[in-house]
Amino acid sequence: MSTTELIGEFEELYGCEPEGVWAAPGRVNLIGEYTDFNDGFVMPLALPHTARVAVARRTDGLLRLHSGDIDAGVTELRIADLAPQPGGGWWTYPAGVVWALLEAGHEAVAGGADVHLRSTVPTGAGLSSSAAIEVSVGLALADLYELPLDRPRLALLCQRAENAFVGVPTGIMDQTASACCEAGHALHLDTRDLSRRQVPFDPAAQGLELLVVDTRVQHALGDGAYAERREGCEEGARQLGVHRLRDVPYEELPAFLGKLSDERVLRYVRHVVSDNHRVTRVAERLDAGDLRGLGPILTEGHASLRDDLRVSCAELDLVVASAVAAGALGARMTGGGFGGSAVVLVESAAATAVTAAVVAALAEAGHQAPRVFPASPSRGAHRVS
Ligand code: ADP
Ligand code: MG
Repeated sequence: MSTTELIGEFEELYGCEPEGVWAAPGRVNLIGEYTDFNDGFVMPLALPHTARVAVARRTDGLLRLHSGDIDAGVTELRIADLAPQPGGGWWTYPAGVVWALLEAGHEAVAGGADVHLRSTVPTGAGLSSSAAIEVSVGLALADLYELPLDRPRLALLCQRAENAFVGVPTGIMDQTASACCEAGHALHLDTRDLSRRQVPFDPAAQGLELLVVDTRVQHALGDGAYAERREGCEEGARQLGVHRLRDVPYEELPAFLGKLSDERVLRYVRHVVSDNHRVTRVAERLDAGDLRGLGPILTEGHASLRDDLRVSCAELDLVVASAVAAGALGARMTGGGFGGSAVVLVESAAATAVTAAVVAALAEAGHQAPRVFPASPSRGAHRVS
């Protein structure tokens, strides 16, 4: 849908013109999985898919929210009455941002706003459609109400909205990626001190493609698994006498593992410490311009998630195995696992054949047909008009 059409929909809904249109992307994580709650590194990139919002300020303290992508009508809220609503509808994402802005002392937003949303970020595929909504709304309000907020601070407030208002315990990666990524780069993010570095990553310039394969499944098993892995990692840190697993030096991993008697905890520690190191190795390859050198590191990361952390599933394992067998340079599941998406690094010339091989392998095993698209590293949140 064009920006003009989005604006037209806003006018039809609310009977006035929007003051502007803002966009914020979904993201995919290149490497560094389950490292964020261990104070470690992650390396997301922004997708070309975005949430776009047309927004106008109000003066009567009302917040009106509408998504053109779902059949839910306009949600009308009094800003003075906003309170966390875990398990509420889609509207809790944008409303949570308004709530978090107010809570942080940005009282100007109490005036109100009309918001109309359209998003091209696939939902529930682990590509962060939720952060895209939060960051697009947050940036729109920050611009319109001239709030003194830089991008990292905006990301923190959006995370606060999702954690406290929507009731989902996510880390800081998704919102930071959506707010701070730059085109042609991956974002090297230290989740301990939130320091960031833009690392050049432009697969197309080197005749490569990074494919996202969305399996379109989400196994119920994943529901309690996140909390269980988190608890296991905290237990590992306790047994090793470190604050977080981030504090275990990779070079000393064998010695540290030797101190652990619990096989489950040992596997979790080995995954987190080695995956954190893989983020550093990937950053080194990217700095050296050696994108093909990423392949084996990605595939190694998948094995660690599959065998040590055990958060993969049959569909994701098959995507990775069939892609690599068909000539991909490397592949791994991305995100929380138990379904969702995988990333596959391929020579551009081989992308069609690798995609066909993955689709065929899934079909033969009786799984759903995946959605496959190239993830060209795109720009972070911005004003569109
Ligand atoms: P992810 O962020 O990985 O896509 P989440 O479960 O965190 O998955 O967020 C998905 C939720 O975000 C949806 O259930 C819905 O409430 C909301 N959402 C995402 N995109 C839209 C949209 N276009 N319109 C309305 N709500 C949306
Ligand atoms: Mg999300």
